[in-house]
Amino acid sequence: MERVDVLVIGAGLLGCFTARNLTRYEMDILVLEKENDVSRGISKANTGIIYTGYDNKPGSLKSKLCIQSNEAFDALARQLAVPFSRPGSLMIGYGPRADQVIRRKYTDGIRAGIKGLRLLNGCEAKELEPRLADGISSALFSRSTGTVNPWELCIAAYENARDNGAGFQFGSEVHSIKRDHGAFLVETDSGLYSARAVVNAAGLSSDRVREFIQKPLLRLYPTAADYMVLDTSESGKIRHIIFHEGENGKGLTLVPTVDGNILVGPTNHEPKYGVISDTGFRVSTDGLMELRSLCRMVAPSILTEKQIRAFGSLRPNVYRVHEEEGRIIREDTRIRDFSLLEEDGFFSLIGIKTPGLTFSNELGRLAADKAAAFTGRTKLRKSYSPYRVGIARTRDLSAGERAALIRKDPCRGEVVCGCMDVTLSEILQAIEQGAHDFEGIRRRTGAGMGRCQGSRCRKKIWDCLYERSFREKH
Ligand SMILES: Cc1cc2nc3c(=O)[nH]c(=O)nc-3n(C[C@H](O)[C@H](O)[C@H](O)COP(=O)(O)OP(=O)(O)OC[C@H]3O[C@@H](n4cnc5c(N)ncnc54)[C@H](O)[C@@H]3O)c2cc1C
Repeated sequence: MERVDVLVIGAGLLGCFTARNLTRYEMDILVLEKENDVSRGISKANTGIIYTGYDNKPGSLKSKLCIQSNEAFDALARQLAVPFSRPGSLMIGYGPRADQVIRRKYTDGIRAGIKGLRLLNGCEAKELEPRLADGISSALFSRSTGTVNPWELCIAAYENARDNGAGFQFGSEVHSIKRDHGAFLVETDSGLYSARAVVNAAGLSSDRVREFIQKPLLRLYPTAADYMVLDTSESGKIRHIIFHEGENGKGLTLVPTVDGNILVGPTNHEPKYGVISDTGFRVSTDGLMELRSLCRMVAPSILTEKQIRAFGSLRPNVYRVHEEEGRIIREDTRIRDFSLLEEDGFFSLIGIKTPGLTFSNELGRLAADKAAAFTGRTKLRKSYSPYRVGIARTRDLSAGERAALIRKDPCRGEVVCGCMDVTLSEILQAIEQGAHDFEGIRRRTGAGMGRCQGSRCRKKIWDCLYERSFREKH
């Protein structure tokens, strides 16, 4: 049985950032993940926005963490070598109800001390985004809203945590947890572990994982989201992140991503039958139709026919529950804030929805500090480094830099994915860094994410993976 100080369950953004922050302390850390890689849950299926915080209740922990995280994001992205851009955002409305919402968000934002907010009229908004539909009645401009590729951030946090000494065990689903003489005994697919403290960052299963040792208190009742990704030929049609405040509530979000695509979505509906997308969640045809029609209404010159990929996600909505005659009864009120439950060395992050990506490092630090304090292992590790060296992307290099790299490493000259300009060298580095399958390589290098969605490079990538596993076995 392996014994550690802190055990983290789940290797999504929150698990990886908790682990990263735990490695600041001298202690043994292990992350258990049921899938075979990091970022296989909600962390790879979201809108990728780094929010400024005007959506949150001023003064709440959520609001404070979001504001602080947004301000610190340039430094975090530099430390972890992750592409990050701040195109700013424009929330637009087309009528009196939307105007009211926009004004309230502006007032909340100013009260919370958020910088760079401006209320605009329709003409001012159109000057910033001429391709939006006419008739905008008001808009809220936010200078500091940013965007990041969520799975790249998660992979970067994982690599940094691992390089600082955190252990990661994949294919290791937690099936039961018991308390035993002041420790937790955790039973998994890969064996039994003992830990002095546990951080439960199991995303959509975090409610059930908590119930291994506690009575039901909170349960997740997910709603579904659909997205579409448009070809880079559409890029440049919008410059800012656009939030459309529909007359009946949430409308459309458009994001000019760090990879040069436009992300359209998300919808919000009860989970229903649909095609399983590359995120492992379902994507519904009705949802995509809804996005198409909203896009025609809000930004008619953006062609949704240029969709190259669609994916789904699930929102972990939290409700309070209680038990009645052995049945779980859901109470009416949905908990809007997130929950970090502390139960005698067992820390649960439950229902971390938007802006969980934005403050994943800060919330991870909070969980890590609490777990470290509980175990008493608060001595700082001298060798801790917050820096990670990423895989240099050939497509970001100048011709001169590229030629110099090819002289050192001939694999830099062999392009495997023509759509995204990914070379053999990047594929091999991704395998070195822990990619076990096509999906892992896609997420680490961008190969297979372009116009043809991997139809031309998939075979070559499989060959590389096969060769690697053959060499390992013999
Ligand atoms: C539709 C949508 C859009 C969003 N957009 C944004 C946005 O634009 N900006 C923003 O700031 N935030 C956004 N968020 C929020 C953000 O994506 C989440 O807060 C964040 O990804 C949550 O990460 P996580 O680590 O809790 O969950 P996950 O990424 O789901 O990770 C949980 C992990 O636990 C593992 N696991 C589960 N059960 C077990 C078990 N028993 N044993 C071992 N492992 C287990 C899973 O396999 C998974 O890998 C969005 C969320 C949603 C749903």
